[in-house]
Amino acid sequence: MSAVKSAGLSVTELEQRLGCRLPERSADGQARSAALMADSWDDRTPTSLVAYTSAGSVAIIANREVGEDLVTRQGETLKCTLLIPRVDDASQPGAIADAAGGSGEGGSTRSIYAALAGVSGYLGQFTVKGRVGGEVVDIAPSLLTAHKPFDIVLDLGEPAQLECEMLPPGYFAPGTDGEALERALAEIPELVGEFDKPRYFNYNPDICAHGASGIRACTRCIDACPTLAISSAGECIEVNPYLCQGGGSCATACPSGAISYAFPLAGDLLASLRRVLADYYQSGGLAAQVLVYDGDSGREWLRQHAESLPENIIPCEVEEIGALGMDVWLCALAYGAVAVTMLCMPGTPPSVRRELEEQRLFAAAILQGMGHDPDGIRLREASDEAALMSALGEASTGQALEAATFQPQNEKRTNIRLAVEHLYEQAPAPAETAPLPAGAPFGELLVNDKTCTLCMACVSVCPASALSDGGSEPKLNFIEWNCVQCGLCESACPEDAIQRHTRFVYDPRLRRATRVLNEDKPFHCVSCGKPFATTRVIESMREKLSGHWMFQKPEAVKRLEMCEDCRVKDMFKDGGGLLDAHDDA
Ligand code: SF4
Ligand code: SF4
Repeated sequence: MSAVKSAGLSVTELEQRLGCRLPERSADGQARSAALMADSWDDRTPTSLVAYTSAGSVAIIANREVGEDLVTRQGETLKCTLLIPRVDDASQPGAIADAAGGSGEGGSTRSIYAALAGVSGYLGQFTVKGRVGGEVVDIAPSLLTAHKPFDIVLDLGEPAQLECEMLPPGYFAPGTDGEALERALAEIPELVGEFDKPRYFNYNPDICAHGASGIRACTRCIDACPTLAISSAGECIEVNPYLCQGGGSCATACPSGAISYAFPLAGDLLASLRRVLADYYQSGGLAAQVLVYDGDSGREWLRQHAESLPENIIPCEVEEIGALGMDVWLCALAYGAVAVTMLCMPGTPPSVRRELEEQRLFAAAILQGMGHDPDGIRLREASDEAALMSALGEASTGQALEAATFQPQNEKRTNIRLAVEHLYEQAPAPAETAPLPAGAPFGELLVNDKTCTLCMACVSVCPASALSDGGSEPKLNFIEWNCVQCGLCESACPEDAIQRHTRFVYDPRLRRATRVLNEDKPFHCVSCGKPFATTRVIESMREKLSGHWMFQKPEAVKRLEMCEDCRVKDMFKDGGGLLDAHDDA
């Protein structure tokens, strides 16, 4: 499937798309309108859909007084079950029991006392667990209810059963916020029927650095997800598409591009950005700045501030700002933006802010290493209006670089490479390499050639083809550009001979060159002459086993210098040298 080129927008359509009218007082403002109208920004390669079905069975978790009031308000149209939390007490006749006065099974509402032990799931598929005499059971089957599992949960417990930065669809935990409760009560009746949403991510396990050979390495997407939709599944990760709400910080955090944002694809978004920036300059605009904001509260912010913003600001609305990382920011600069500002709204989850800030520091270090302004990429709080406006005002005087002509790709590291190569060509103070903060996804490996035995344990776990062996020669090869600094090799090395070192190499030849990290002479079997190990491995074995009782006789030591076949033959020759050694002990 591929995106279809847009035909452009009318003035009214542009206004509808942005949610406001942008001023055109200056040449920049006029160029901006012309550029934004020339491209609809919605050329998106389709993605599959994730479907939810809800029959409207609501679990209300609340104390009896509050809960019964809510049941009265919602119970007319929905099947409500009031779950009144209580402490599990095995001495009570049943830790999950009908509350006196409940309307009982078969009615539209029911009140239950339960020692709650957690909620999991999403709209149409919630499981509520309860504890009975120390055992955790699923409450819905225990109730023998006809409507199970629960479709919706309204949780007024303190604390709520589910605590994550972004709650799953169908779960409401307004706490003590009265307005949030009223919003939930208004929304819940609407959540009956069939719903769908885009599947926001693509995942390629072949290049995932989560684990190998029983070693756990990268967990960046798991740590960055505000909905707890991602979990470890052996050597890969697993994303629950029903919990995923498209926050996108997993894709931003992923060092290898194994998980990527699917709606829009990076290539589609960048193609639009590239066209708009090119049209803006062709229409006479100067020093374009890109302002990235979310389509929810960010859109409202733009509506309120459109009149007072510098007119060289190109609005870029996305579903979630967390989905845009280093690749998009650097490409935007390469396509001619003087600055990219990510607008954080009060509701932006802390994990998304953390991830964006970390990525911003990596990008700033890469820009700095070329002599470009490291503040060309900024994260700004909408709540700090003075700082935001001052930053947007300062960038308005910047000088745009010659715009890059490369086609954007859907592969993150390729986009970063293409953008940096272009920015490097116009670098005011180009360095050969730049140091990057710890955790950055670029860098080299430092191998201690005194302790490395060239066992190739590191090669076998590397998910990025950064490490390779030398075929018939004992050699450890490395391509720096491929390395995502996941640390799998470091953990797999039995000799602790590997250390990671984050940096960015600008010279494409050096970055992509195959470097030999360690090599040795092959050791030939003293019996048949076949090369079977490295000289250093044999020397190390000799040294390590020199005090062992089995290797005190010269013929036993000689066997260390034999290939496996010759060693076995030698052991069973004339009664077996191994038995001789044992007899001596
Ligand atoms: S490589 Fe990417 S997808 Fe794999 S665990 Fe790390 S962040 Fe997640
Ligand atoms: S060389 Fe090591 S750190 Fe780099 S990608 Fe391969 S396993 Fe990960």
